[in-house]
Amino acid sequence: MKVGFIGLGAMGYPLAGHLAKKYETLVWNRTFAKAEAHAREFGSRAVELPELAQVEILFTCLPTSLEVDQLAQRLLPYLRPGTLWVDHTSGEPELAQKTARMLQEKGVSYLDACLSGGVAGALQARATVMAGGAAEDFARAKPVMEAYAAKIVHVGPLGSGHAVKAVNNALLAVNLWALSEGMVALVKQGVNAGLALEVINASSGRSNVSENLFGQRVISREFPNTFALGLLAKDLGICAKVLEAAATPAPMLRQVREFFEIAKREVGATEVDHTAVAKLLEKWAGLEIK
Ligand code: NDP
Repeated sequence: MKVGFIGLGAMGYPLAGHLAKKYETLVWNRTFAKAEAHAREFGSRAVELPELAQVEILFTCLPTSLEVDQLAQRLLPYLRPGTLWVDHTSGEPELAQKTARMLQEKGVSYLDACLSGGVAGALQARATVMAGGAAEDFARAKPVMEAYAAKIVHVGPLGSGHAVKAVNNALLAVNLWALSEGMVALVKQGVNAGLALEVINASSGRSNVSENLFGQRVISREFPNTFALGLLAKDLGICAKVLEAAATPAPMLRQVREFFEIAKREVGATEVDHTAVAKLLEKWAGLEIK
């Protein structure tokens, strides 16, 4: 089977690498040198978009649904009926539905198949996929996604993958913000941050943030930029739209978006990791979490 991958960023690069080990894989990236480097590293083939459009399953992993829609418009003249487009972007349900309608006119089906597990999950081929779309499209994509995902769930109709991902990332943001608040207060009271974290991780307040992110990124002062603060802030904007569409009460999830908008302005968007929000709370408290 011939597959194609567009968007060789922090997530896309390793994912397409896993695909290349099992399938004939064509790759394209805006900065084309990355596609050429990928071909050298994994034996994929760097090609121009018209050739890439000829694959059976086409994957995208781009910053937002806007870039996906723009690429779909660019590829439209070359796409063939029967192609399946699997979008791994953390995107917007509504815009994805519009893109899917446009593709459908060409006989191309679309899944919004969001990822979680971070770059580590992508590298180790144990990502989680939450997919929205038709059951038969999901059944076609699932065995291929098994090249890099350990958990693959069809969560509902088109757009629901994006919606679940947005809520998941809002929960990540809540945990990250709340733990940063708590840690700042504890350090101010003279508690060692590493010891506090050790205890929290053996107690009911633990989370993925406390177990996997906070020690390695915040207390270590390393803040490696594998998932940009701006991308998480973007997901919170998508979550706000999901909440608006549902018209359900959600004071916490709406509030955390505001916090991250402030952090984005104060700490930075693209050049800093999402865990750097802790630096804003440190600045407000006048101390470092250590
Ligand atoms: P990166 O910023 O590392 O990569 C973005 C990719 O999109 C690059 O290949 C970039 O190309 C390409 N791109 C950007 N703008 C355009 C454009 N206008 N036209 C064509 N290509 C473009 O992002 P990530 O890999 O971190 O994230 C990708 C998606 O996955 C996002 O939606 C993110 O929210 C989501 N995600 C990220 C996770 C993470 O831990 N990083 C985890 C789960 C989901 P170029 O090389 O030229 O810049």
